[in-house]
Amino acid sequence: MNYMPAHSRTARSGVLFDAARRVIPGGVNSTARATWSGWTPYPLFVERGTGSRIEDADGNVYIDYLLGLGPMILGHRPPEVTQAVVDFIENRGTVFALPTADEAVLAEKIVAALPSVEQVRLCNTGTEAVLYATRLARAFTGRHKIVRFEGMYHGFSDAVYWSKHPSLEKAGPDSRPQPVAQGPGMPKGVEANLIILPWNDADALRDVVWTHGHEIAAVLTEPLMCNTGCILPEPGYLEAMRAITAEAGILLIFDEVITGFRLGLAGAQGRLGIKPDLSVFAKGLGGGFPVAAMGGRRDVMSLVDQGRVSMAGTYTANGIAIAAANATLDMLARPGFYENLDAVSDRLRLGLEDVLQDAGLPAHVVGLGPLMQVWFSEKPIRNYREAERHADQALFDRWWRGMLSRGVLFHPGAYENLFVSAAHSAEDVDATLDAARDTAQELL
Ligand code: PLP
Repeated sequence: MNYMPAHSRTARSGVLFDAARRVIPGGVNSTARATWSGWTPYPLFVERGTGSRIEDADGNVYIDYLLGLGPMILGHRPPEVTQAVVDFIENRGTVFALPTADEAVLAEKIVAALPSVEQVRLCNTGTEAVLYATRLARAFTGRHKIVRFEGMYHGFSDAVYWSKHPSLEKAGPDSRPQPVAQGPGMPKGVEANLIILPWNDADALRDVVWTHGHEIAAVLTEPLMCNTGCILPEPGYLEAMRAITAEAGILLIFDEVITGFRLGLAGAQGRLGIKPDLSVFAKGLGGGFPVAAMGGRRDVMSLVDQGRVSMAGTYTANGIAIAAANATLDMLARPGFYENLDAVSDRLRLGLEDVLQDAGLPAHVVGLGPLMQVWFSEKPIRNYREAERHADQALFDRWWRGMLSRGVLFHPGAYENLFVSAAHSAEDVDATLDAARDTAQELL
């Protein structure tokens, strides 16, 4: 079944996709937008976004919970951010390869918001920021292995693009997952620097630190498992992770690319009360512009001083990105911002849960604040392998298509998230719940 009615209502997207495919392999510029990531028969081509809405190439308007996969925390085209960027371009420029005063202004805001961040380096994307953090951890500890968790995503660099969503046939036994490359082309041997573990399992971490602790530079984790459908940490898990790593001299790196500036100014770490050694931020920081940050303990960050650990980049801290981030953080710091965002998000999460329960579907909604996902599963899901074994992906696909046909947009992947922005209103949520009620009836 194609989304509804795919060929009549979204015909222009189909035409644009065919044209794109002639010159762009797969017709898109990121795997997450590809047909093989669920956008069948073709991804929607976007004409524009406005606030909580997105309009496709055929003029269909959707309530948007895809939100660019996270950055649009203020909704599309937030006037304050747009104006700050336009002002910068018109009055000052774009790229200078020299610092501007605005960079330290932004760094001050980040340091003030996050107790774990004493110093910060700015860059363009989450992928870069993770690369910096792991390099720094290796340099600081003199060790080379990084622990990462099956089902998480930390960007597409060769060093960490492993075991995101591996097939369980290739991924080794539950007790000892093996690194699985995210496709061919990875340099031979890089996986020797990775230890893959199941998430939400403190004993597994304890065991590996016991046997390999002297080789482990860092444990790299999302504080919520957002790349396998928003799985929450079990009570005490992150606290155990913090204690185990601290005791073994291993740096704890929080990848807050999705959660940072989304779950609060202090991110998931503020909300959950955990202090990592290093953190990585991106999406929510820039209000839609490419900007990222890596920061943490001063003694670790100081290795970047004097160029001992090198971090570079022509577009790093370019004027546009910094102007956007400064304007975005000013908006996020307004009194009541996160309270309002949470209130609308809770209305959606609780409302969806009610709709699915009332319909008698084997489904539940998992999430925190403006991040959530619907799981079609009888059993609770605590990690990637449980998701693979228990989640009904076919039912999720029907849910996605039903919602899209009723004007509600989110990613077709069951392992992605629904994002809520400050532009979403209670009315948007209520319209979404109406669509959910109708869709749920189709799924019975
Ligand atoms: N880390 C996490 C947790 C992510 O979800 C992503 C992207 O979705 C990245 C890192 C990579 O960020 P970027 O796409 O900005 O390179």
